[in-house]
Amino acid sequence: MTTIIDGKAVSQQILAELKQQISKFSSKPGLAVILVGDNPASQAYIRMKKKACEDIGIQSFEFLLPKDSHESELEQVIQSLNERSEVHGILLQMPLPAGFDEQKMLQLINPKKDVDGFHPMNVGRLLIGLDTFKSCTPYGVAELLKRYNINPSGQHVVIVGRSNIVGKPMAAILMQNNEWANATVTVCHSRTNNLKDICLQADILIAAIGRPLFVSSDMVKPGAVVIDVGINKVTDDSIKGYKLVGDVDYDAIYPIASAITPVPGGVGPLTIAMLMTNTVKAFLVTQ
Ligand code: NAP
Repeated sequence: MTTIIDGKAVSQQILAELKQQISKFSSKPGLAVILVGDNPASQAYIRMKKKACEDIGIQSFEFLLPKDSHESELEQVIQSLNERSEVHGILLQMPLPAGFDEQKMLQLINPKKDVDGFHPMNVGRLLIGLDTFKSCTPYGVAELLKRYNINPSGQHVVIVGRSNIVGKPMAAILMQNNEWANATVTVCHSRTNNLKDICLQADILIAAIGRPLFVSSDMVKPGAVVIDVGINKVTDDSIKGYKLVGDVDYDAIYPIASAITPVPGGVGPLTIAMLMTNTVKAFLVTQ
C-alpha cells in the first residue's frame, strides 16, 4: 500500500504547534516581506505568507516597491529593516525585476534575520553542519520525511536538480552527520549521464527540476520514496485553463512507490510552514 504524504496536513500541524508556542510569548515575532514589482505569482505567495502570519500570531510588515525602483531604494529598505528590533525575519521575494543584482541584495540582509536561508553565511553554515536558517523548501522536505518516520540514514537519496534554493541545500541537509540525515546523496542535473540508471538506484528520489511529469515510472525503483518538489502549470480544459502538476508522473509512479508526495498538497505547503518556523527561531535568538 503506497503512503500518500500529506503535506497540507503536516503544514497545518506545524502551524498549529507554532501558534501554540507563540501564544506563550510576551511579544510577537515579526516578519517583513519585500516585493519589488508586480509579478502575479509573487503577489499570490506574499498574500499566502501574510495570511499564515496572521493565523499564528506573527506580525507581518509588507514593503512594496515599484518595478522601476532603483537598487539603492531596495538597499535602503533592507538596511532599515536590519535595524528594526520588531522585525525578526526579512524575506526578499524572488525573482527581482531585471536589472537588480539578486545576490547583492540578498547579501544585504542581516544573516540573523535571513529566514529564507539564502545568505551565503547561512548556506555555508548549513554545509558545515552548524545551526542555521535552512532554506524553506528543502527544510520542508526533510520535515515531511521526519514526520512520516522515513529516516534517510544510510539510504541512497538521489536529488534531480541543483538549484541554490532546492537541490543544493537539500543535499546539504540530508548529507549531514546527524539524526534524520546521514544519507548517501547523489545530485543530478541537466548534464548528468545515465540519469535514469542513477534514479533507479534511489531509495529516496527527490525531483526539483521544473519540468512537468519528467520522472517516469521506469526511473523509479519499486518501493522507493518519491518526493516531488516541482510545481508546473499545464493548460487544460478547466475554467482556470490550467492545472498544477509536479515533476513526477504521479499516476504512473504511485503503484510502485512505497510513499509519494502529490502535487498540489505535497511539498508545496511546507515552504510557508518552514518560513514561519524560521521566523520564530529568529525571534527566539533575540530574547
Ligand atoms: P531551477 O532553478 O530551474 O533548477 C532546475 C534544476 O533542474 C537545474 O539544476 C537543472 O539542471 C535541472 N534540470 C533541468 N532539466 C533537467 C533534465 N532534463 N535532466 C536533469 N536535470 C534537469 O528550479 P528550482 O527553483 O530548483 O525549482 C524546481 C521545481 O520546484 C520547479 O517546478 C519549481 O516551481 C518548484 N519549486 C517548488 C517550491 C515549493 O514547493 N514551495 C519551491 C521552489 C521550487 P542545470 O543546473 O544543469 O540547469
